[in-house]
Order: sequence, then C-alpha cells, then structure tokens
Amino acid sequence: MKRIVLASGNPDKLRELRYLLKDLQVEIIPVGDLIPNWYVEETGVTLEENAYIKARDVAEKTHLPVIADDTGLFVDVLGGAPGVYAARFAGFDCSYENNVSKLLRTMLCEENRRAAFRTSAVLVSPEMEFSVTGEIAGVITEEPDGEDGFGYDPVFLPDELDHTFARCSPEDKHRISHRARAIAKLREKLISSGIHG
Ligand code: IMP
Repeated sequence: MKRIVLASGNPDKLRELRYLLKDLQVEIIPVGDLIPNWYVEETGVTLEENAYIKARDVAEKTHLPVIADDTGLFVDVLGGAPGVYAARFAGFDCSYENNVSKLLRTMLCEENRRAAFRTSAVLVSPEMEFSVTGEIAGVITEEPDGEDGFGYDPVFLPDELDHTFARCSPEDKHRISHRARAIAKLREKLISSGIHG
C-alpha cells in the first residue's frame, strides 16, 4: 500500500480525502503524524502556488508523495475577493463567523450575488508533480442558513441545489463540491500514473 501524506492539519480534509480515495491502494497520513506542529506560511498569490508551497515543504521533509490543496471563494461583484484570502477575509485569526459577517456586510444591497468556490489540489512526489482544479458556481445568500459544514457554507447556495452547503449531508456535498471535483481529477491522475498502489 502506497503512503501519501496530506499537507494539512484539518481533520475534515483528511476525512474527505480518505473517503474520496477509499478505493485506491493508498494510505493517507496526516502531516501531523510525521511532523508535529508542522506549519508553513502561505505566501502565494494563487491557490496553486499556495498548494505547491505546502506540498513541496512536506515532500522535502518526509521524502514521501504529498497531496495539498487550497481553496478560495471568488465573488463576482467584489472583483474576485476574498479569493485566495478567503480564510483571513476579516483579518488574521478571525473566525468563520467573522468572515461570513464581513462578506454579508460588504454585499449589503448588492443584486449580483454570483460567486464560485475554486480548489487547487496538487501532488508532489520524488517522481512527479501535478496540479488539478475543481469549481462550483452559485450565489451568496442574503443571510446564513443551515448548521452543517464550515467556512462560508451557510451563505453559499450552489446552482445545483435549492439549499445552502450548510444544509447538505457530507455525502451530498462530496458529490458536487469544488474540493471533491478537484480530488476526483487527482484520483484519475494517481491511477493513470500508477502511483496509487
Ligand atoms: P482552505 O484553503 O481549504 O483552508 O480554505 C480557505 C478558506 O476557504 C477556509 O478557511 C474557508 O473559510 C473557505 N472554504 C474552503 N472550503 C470551503 C467549503 O467547502 N465551504 C465553505 N468555505 C470553505
């Protein structure tokens, strides 16, 4: 069984990645199991740059294949903001609620509420590197709705659904989410490259 490290300490991402790659001969190891308190500054200006910064750092330290991802929320009327800065839209160390409140305040009275989540996922290994993307389009609702999920889920209404991501079961979200779409492409590349087993 091939070991692949996930360059993230986020338990939700780990669970999601294991679920999406469960039929491959790979063991996904969280970076914290190999490098306690791992941290690298995400200084990139694109999602892909940030994903590569994380993956290359962990690959150099572990000499194992590494998967990393980075997600942004791109709002049309805000010229693509918060974009790659989605996690710190309301400032460093802000909460998900702070970000959602700032987004709703910033978009007060805006009629154009189109937005998209985009994910860049990369694999870095001693033999190869590649990146893939996934996207889902929708609108930002006027107020939060739903208790599940995380981040901007309570205010993101995907075009494919009649309720926000925060009203989705994890299985429903995994079927259509930006990250799931990116990981599905990554999965295909793992299979075609033979790295999965
Ligand atoms: P990350 O790069 O995956 O850590 O995502 C950056 C930020 O985007 C997170 O802190 C969340 O605020 C937001 N985000 C990422 N994925 C999602 C999602 O699936 N739903 C809602 N917000 C998300």
